[in-house]
Amino acid sequence: MIRSRKAIIVGAGIAGLAAALRLRQIGWEPMVFERAPARRTGGYVLHLSGLGYEAAERLNVLAELRDRHFGATDLVFVKPDGRQRFSAAGRDAQALLGERNLNLLRGDVESVLYEAVRDQVDIRFGADLQTIEQDAVGVRAVFADGNTENADLLVGADGRHSKVRDLLFGPEEDFRRDLDHVVAAFMLDRLPASVRERAFTSLATPGRTLSILNLDEDRTAAIFAYRTSDPATELASGPVQALSSRYGDLGWVVPDLLDQLRRSESVHFDSGSEISLGRWSRQRVVLLGDAAWLMPIYAGYGASLAIGGADRLGTMLADARDEIPAALHTWETALRPEARKRQKVGRRNTRWQIPSTPFHLLLRDVPLRIATSTPAARLRRLLPA
Ligand SMILES: Cc1cc2nc3c(=O)[nH]c(=O)nc-3n(C[C@H](O)[C@H](O)[C@H](O)COP(=O)(O)OP(=O)(O)OC[C@H]3O[C@@H](n4cnc5c(N)ncnc54)[C@H](O)[C@@H]3O)c2cc1C
Repeated sequence: MIRSRKAIIVGAGIAGLAAALRLRQIGWEPMVFERAPARRTGGYVLHLSGLGYEAAERLNVLAELRDRHFGATDLVFVKPDGRQRFSAAGRDAQALLGERNLNLLRGDVESVLYEAVRDQVDIRFGADLQTIEQDAVGVRAVFADGNTENADLLVGADGRHSKVRDLLFGPEEDFRRDLDHVVAAFMLDRLPASVRERAFTSLATPGRTLSILNLDEDRTAAIFAYRTSDPATELASGPVQALSSRYGDLGWVVPDLLDQLRRSESVHFDSGSEISLGRWSRQRVVLLGDAAWLMPIYAGYGASLAIGGADRLGTMLADARDEIPAALHTWETALRPEARKRQKVGRRNTRWQIPSTPFHLLLRDVPLRIATSTPAARLRRLLPA
């Protein structure tokens, strides 16, 4: 009788849960180990497209994700005092993106994957990976509580500050490229007065932006991004102090947002960076998602490639029989051009999304104004998708 193969997956984010689902599909026995004591919720807003959308279809979670898709929201660009500069109808913005993409909360993507996999896979919270050992026949992981697990494969899906990557290849600083900005994203407990409902409202001044996305009366997300040549110092001061000092001179709803930030239980506050590694695997250990190929957030593709990468990893392993290291090598060779391309797009978008001077701000707005102008929008509606 052929024994089913075991995988240890470190991290229950989008990459880890997608990998667990895919490995179950091909008959493996994955186990997921998550450091956090419980599941996260909320997070921030993301688009799912490309390989991620295709993989969601194959993983049979597209219908559930579609149910959480919050559709197209109007775009509103405002001046620092909140007066409108210009706006675009949500359906026109959506038409620019095409049909095969979804707007979702990160927490909703994780929930859908978690619900799909929870009855088939052992998922342990409060499990903090400490060490890995591997040889020609297997891999062993030791966790902080002393628990030891053995498997045929270990998937490091433990995010941008990956411990698995540290153990495999060395410290993050050796592979991280900072893109001279800092991002803070969190959920608001209420929509500030004077901000339009069901809209993506965006304010940009040279070197800093802030956006508020209202989905419904219970869900509003905020994202701040600003340029800095010293992200480490900004991060060390923490989100409240850093954002207060960078945005504190602005009026409109900014004091309200900073107030809500102080009360927020969960804030993503990190540098805008990317990770580039020469290899994503070593023998029986493979990195997946941000741990492997962290991309600029303005690539808008990290979650998509995490799901797409997990899907393709499963396909490769299903065909691999006993040649796991060779399958990992083939998988990463095929996926690497996509990751590189998306990182490049992300770097370019970052320059455009956080304009550094009034001139760059103007340059950013021209194509947006044209693309969303009434004649262009009408024409697009006449063309096939
Ligand atoms: C503001 C913002 C906007 C974004 N927008 C988009 C978008 O529009 N489209 C898109 O596709 N992507 C987007 N992304 C990127 C996307 O969210 C990420 O690429 C994706 O969520 C990464 O998932 P992951 O599972 O690789 O990592 P993570 O979500 O970081 O998950 C890693 C998990 O591993 C756990 N862990 C860490 N260390 C250990 C350890 N030692 N032991 C056990 N567990 C551990 C962590 O607790 C965590 O749960 C955006 C990101 C941000 C910040």
